[in-house]
Amino acid sequence: MGEVEKTFISGLREKLVEDRVIDESQLEPDFAKEIVKHGGKDVMTCLQCGNCTGVCPISLKIDYKTRSIIKFCQFGLKKFTLETRWVCATCYRCYEHCPADINPAEVMIALRHIAIKEGVIPPFIKMAASNLLKYGQSVKPDPEIERVRRELELVDMPSRDKEYAKVVREINLLVRSTGYDKLIGIESEVKT
Ligand code: SF4
Ligand code: SF4
Repeated sequence: MGEVEKTFISGLREKLVEDRVIDESQLEPDFAKEIVKHGGKDVMTCLQCGNCTGVCPISLKIDYKTRSIIKFCQFGLKKFTLETRWVCATCYRCYEHCPADINPAEVMIALRHIAIKEGVIPPFIKMAASNLLKYGQSVKPDPEIERVRRELELVDMPSRDKEYAKVVREINLLVRSTGYDKLIGIESEVKT
């Protein structure tokens, strides 16, 4: 997939992903229904107005903009959509500005559910889950952050507390008993 550079009216220059050639064999006609089954609304009612992309705080950082992702869903381009980077912040700004009441944020969540079921799991999700099992939080404790917290007279991170080991054990138990470890492929890391 190549890149092209685009200059916006504002003068902003941005590298965009080059359009791909699509053939009919890549279209999955029931994809819109699958999204509904996984909690999203009917993407076929999208007007392609672009409001969602206009208000999205991360739209300049993703390969495809929110409106384009919804368009992919309408076409049934499941594979393209599931490969799109998982950077939606679920801030719901797109929902507030969508005239068709589609709630693109929930479509993004449905796409993540489908991606997980199909085994498309980005490494950072596994990393966050592993950290949760080890430290009780998705981000690895960082001495620099702890130093800044002390400087700001904030309380220590809970993971510093000896009692917190109990919480971490409970998290491990929950992850194992719900099968989340198997689902995302971190089974071997769960403490028994
Ligand atoms: S919920 Fe996701 S797609 Fe919608 S505006 Fe926020 S970051 Fe963008
Ligand atoms: S704001 Fe709603 S109707 Fe407009 S492009 Fe986005 S999803 Fe479609």
